Amino acid sequence: MKAFDLLEATLGHEMTPGESWQDDMNLWQWLDDGILRVEPLKPADSRNCDRAIVLSCGIHGNETAPIELLVAMAKQLSETPRRLQARVLFILGNPKAVVNGSRFVDENLNRLFSPQYKQAKPQNPEQRRASDLMRAIDEFFSLAAPHQRRVHYDLHTAIRDSKHPFFAVYPHSPEGFSRNAVARLQAADVDTVLLSHAPASTFSHYSHCYHQAEAFTVELGKVKPFGGNDMSKLEPLKRLLEAMLYGLWPTPQLDEQRIKLFRVTRAIHRQHQEFSLSFADDLANFSRFKKGQQLAQDGNEEIVAEHDGEAIVFPNRKVAVGQRALLTVIQSAPSILTD
Ligand SMILES: [Zn+2]
Repeated sequence: MKAFDLLEATLGHEMTPGESWQDDMNLWQWLDDGILRVEPLKPADSRNCDRAIVLSCGIHGNETAPIELLVAMAKQLSETPRRLQARVLFILGNPKAVVNGSRFVDENLNRLFSPQYKQAKPQNPEQRRASDLMRAIDEFFSLAAPHQRRVHYDLHTAIRDSKHPFFAVYPHSPEGFSRNAVARLQAADVDTVLLSHAPASTFSHYSHCYHQAEAFTVELGKVKPFGGNDMSKLEPLKRLLEAMLYGLWPTPQLDEQRIKLFRVTRAIHRQHQEFSLSFADDLANFSRFKKGQQLAQDGNEEIVAEHDGEAIVFPNRKVAVGQRALLTVIQSAPSILTD
């Protein structure tokens, strides 16, 4: 089979939705623009494989490293067919924004993964795409047998510098945060994990909340144009994903000395028109403050750090009144994890 290029196939509209083909071992199906399912060819193998894995990239169109990674993985599988241990869904999230080289066209796609957007009439390209992607996820996981593991890694790169360039966001998880799942991230050199305190409308939260998937938003360094990424840094992640696709299920031990877990202490919402953050616009995520140090000025209210070591993530002073301007987090001991 000729090498399959996920990016070219998506942007060039080379394929027809529903088109399928096969190699010696696997069945490939192009479900829609940028949505590719690959599964073992024999129905018996497909039922017996114990994993259903979603790998997504390009939810933000200018975040190229994850796109290059998944394009390479799909290409390798097409050139050298291997027996999959998983049903796999490859997703290139926002093709229109990829063409533009922009984060999004009209609206941040990663705030739209909420069931309401499956029903409502879409107002822009991102709302339409969110609806299509949620339906693709619903169908993919609904075809999974009850015993199949469900996994979704939504891969990104960050706009802002970070004290910890590789980090993951663990979606809100009332049933607890899994030690084994965090150990797998650590095997991919993602050794900082932000434990979410509340539901969100992100892609990974959707898979975690509605399909009980082991799901993460994974941030892989800083945003760069195509060709500008140091892909060698993504090798550990690639090895982990290949083990999930082709090998024994990875069950690494958690290195408690090295893992950095942060739990959210406060979500600070802008309350007034007069609002400013008390630190530089380019301050890195996970920068720490001392107790009493000012974080923001909101009208007459001075917002200060409440603990030594309280750190900031995802600050944005330009949000509308009522919206979240930053999160504060504090490091947690590994004993916060369950399993
Ligand atoms: Zn992103």
